[in-house]
This record gives sequence, structure tokens and C-alpha cells, in this order.
Amino acid sequence: MAWDFSLTEEQRMLVDTVRQFMEQEIIPHERETERLGEVPLELGRQIQKRSVEQGLYGANMPAEAGGGGLDFLSATLMDRELGKSTYGLVGWVGRPSEILNACQGDQRDVYLLPTVKGERKEAFALTEPNAGSDAMSIQTRARKDGDDYVIDGSKHFISCVRRPDFVILFAVTGTDETKKGTRKRITAFLIDCDTPGFELRRGPRPVSHRTYHNYQLSFSDCRVPARNILGEEGRGFDHAGQWLANTRILVAANCCGKAERALDVASRWAATRQQFGQTIGKFQGVSFKLADMATELRAADLLTMQVAWKYAAGTMTGGDAAMAKLFASEMCARVTDNAIQVLGGMGLMDELPLEMLWRDARIERIWDGTSEIQRHIISRELLRPLEG
Ligand SMILES: Cc1cc2nc3c(=O)[nH]c(=O)nc-3n(C[C@H](O)[C@H](O)[C@H](O)COP(=O)(O)OP(=O)(O)OC[C@H]3O[C@@H](n4cnc5c(N)ncnc54)[C@H](O)[C@@H]3O)c2cc1C
Repeated sequence: MAWDFSLTEEQRMLVDTVRQFMEQEIIPHERETERLGEVPLELGRQIQKRSVEQGLYGANMPAEAGGGGLDFLSATLMDRELGKSTYGLVGWVGRPSEILNACQGDQRDVYLLPTVKGERKEAFALTEPNAGSDAMSIQTRARKDGDDYVIDGSKHFISCVRRPDFVILFAVTGTDETKKGTRKRITAFLIDCDTPGFELRRGPRPVSHRTYHNYQLSFSDCRVPARNILGEEGRGFDHAGQWLANTRILVAANCCGKAERALDVASRWAATRQQFGQTIGKFQGVSFKLADMATELRAADLLTMQVAWKYAAGTMTGGDAAMAKLFASEMCARVTDNAIQVLGGMGLMDELPLEMLWRDARIERIWDGTSEIQRHIISRELLRPLEG
């Protein structure tokens, strides 16, 4: 088998464009927004406008939906660059949820097309106070009533760069009897945030991605027409499952970008900071740490890109995506932590980006499925065929 690890000319140009965008439009705003704990709306809109102008906004979406039609490997490379900063800022660069490609008929005009253009913002609402890793245990219900569904329940930890215009909501619409017992029918709905009976409140501020908003949602007798079902009734997880797997690769790519930036700061520091009459990089205690960081990063990059390649080729399994997310997010935690160690006290100061990268790295082992859940997926794929 021939292995070619080189980027195409288009991919190289894309990486350069995103890198330049990060240097000009994102990184200069990090310190101020981290201190404020908020990205001012005007700044967010400015980032979005520039992103639209440069063709980055919606680059991941198909051309027929008004997007850039990037192939998945290129989209992964783009996310690697975006991972170098914090989500509250880079979230404005775009990349709408690909799950919206399941929109049909009028849904395309109302939800998909304006979201790809940046006119509307969506949030993905699955997690509930009593249903995190165990997504099948969600309790939000959608009861059929004539041509409508009536929704009751709540969600938390639902994130977006700003107050969303609509949510992709997962709710239980019934049950099926299967060989393994009773199974919930889970359906995805598109719900405008100004629908009566739907309340949206800001949630607590997390330590990671401090300027990225998260919301608590509550639904009480919230009536939506059946035409707002995304995909088919009872098939919500079919769409979400595929989207979550591809999101895990993008999280892995984000982690590689973040780790690369941390390693770069640490290497520059080690090459110039003097103690005991020489640069600290000459001490094996520091230089070997850098060598391990670089090696782990290379391994995570290769795994991530190989899984992205499998996704594009249609051969990726859930275990593949889980491996990339598990390895890259754990790597990112170690590399950002070690980078701080290389800088000593300066590593903890908010004049440098390391403390932000280290804080942001923490959530990567939790959202989109915790490390334990990724191990669960990988081990089930290994063992199930052998268990008979
Ligand atoms: C800032 C933030 C933003 C988020 N954004 C969104 C969003 O936009 N939309 C959305 O739907 N969700 C979102 N989430 C939710 C996120 O995906 C969940 O937090 C995550 O899936 C874990 O669920 P949990 O927090 O309820 O933890 P729990 O499921 O309660 O897990 C707690 C601990 O138990 C472990 N555990 C659970 N089950 C097992 C098992 N079977 N084997 C071994 N260990 C296990 C977990 O690994 C973890 O260590 C967000 C979360 C955060 C913090």
C-alpha cells in the first residue's frame, strides 16, 4: 500500500489562510476577552464577517447549501488550526453543525441556508441534568397531538457562541419493543428559541473555554409542528450518531492544534531562558520533556488524520473516531500541562496563552463523550465479535 502524507496545494493554502486569520482576527483578542470573561457581540460579529469574506464560514458545509464544500480531510486540517485558540472566539469563525444537512423541504430555507450564511445560529441540545454519558436515558418528551408535538423537559450544558436562534433538540417520542427489551424512540426537532413554552437561560461559567456560552433549556407545553422534525421520527440518533463521530475527529484535530501551540511556546522558552548559567533547554529534565511532547503530538496527529481519511473513505468505525478523540485529548492535557512546567511560574500568568490552553484542554476529555466512554466504545468493538 502506498502511503502519502503530503498535503495538496489546496490544503496547504487553506492551512495558511486559517493560520493568517488566527493571527489577525483571533489571537490579538484573546487576553482581553479572557479577562472580560466574554466576547463582546460586536467583536464576534466582526470575526464572523471577516470569516464570511474569506470563505471560511460554512466551509465545512456542502456547496449546494451555500457552503465551501471542503472535503473532510481539509475540514480536519482547518479545525486543527482553529484549535489553537479558545472556542468563545473561534466559534464565530463558523462551521455550522453538519447534522443540519438532514434538513428537507422548507427546513432548508428556514434553518440550513441561513445558518450556513451566518444569519442564524444553532445549538445542539442532547444533554440533560440526568442524562450525560447515558444519552439514551434522556427524559425530555415530545407527545403527538394532532399535527403537532408538545414538548416537556429540560436540557443543560448546551453551548453556543451567543444566544442561539434555534436548537436541534432530542426528545423521546415513544418506545419500541426490541430483542433487548424496551427501547426509547428518540427524535430530533428544530425549535426556534422564541417558541412559546421554551425558555433559555445562561448556565454557569466553565473553567474551559471561558467565553463560550452554555445554556439551560426548559420546555413546558411547548408546541411545535410535526414538520419541524429533523430527519425521521424515532431516528434522531441515526443523524446524531454520525455527526458525533465526525465531531470527535474534529475535537482530536483541535487538541493537536492546541498542543502544537503550547509546545511552540515551551520550546521557545526553553531555548532562551537561562538558569544556572545556561539555557534551561540544555537540562535533560527539560529537553526530554519537550522530546516526549513532540513525539506524542506527532502520534496524535497521525492517528487523527488517518481516522479522518477513513471517514472520508467511508470505512471509519465508531471505535476509530473514539481512538482519535481519546488519544488526542489525553495527549493535549499532558502537553499543555508539561508546557506550563517548562515555563515555571510564567506558565501560569495570563500574559501568555499557556494557562488558557491548559484550562481549555481540560474539557476535551469530557465533552463529545468522556475518555471513559471512548474507551467503552473501543473495547466493545474489540470484544463484541469475540463474545459470540
Ligand atoms: C462546557 C460544556 C459544553 C457542552 N456543550 C454541549 C452541547 O452543546 N450539547 C450537548 O448536548 N451537550 C453538551 N455538553 C455535555 C457533555 O457532552 C457532557 O458533559 C458529557 O457527555 C458528559 O456527561 P456528564 O457531564 O453528564 O457526565 P456523566 O455522564 O455524569 O459522567 C460522570 C463521570 O462518570 C463516568 N462514566 C459515566 N458512565 C460511565 C461508564 N459507562 N463507564 C465508565 N465511566 C462512566 C464519566 O466518564 C465521567 O467521568 C457540554 C458540556 C460542557 C461541560
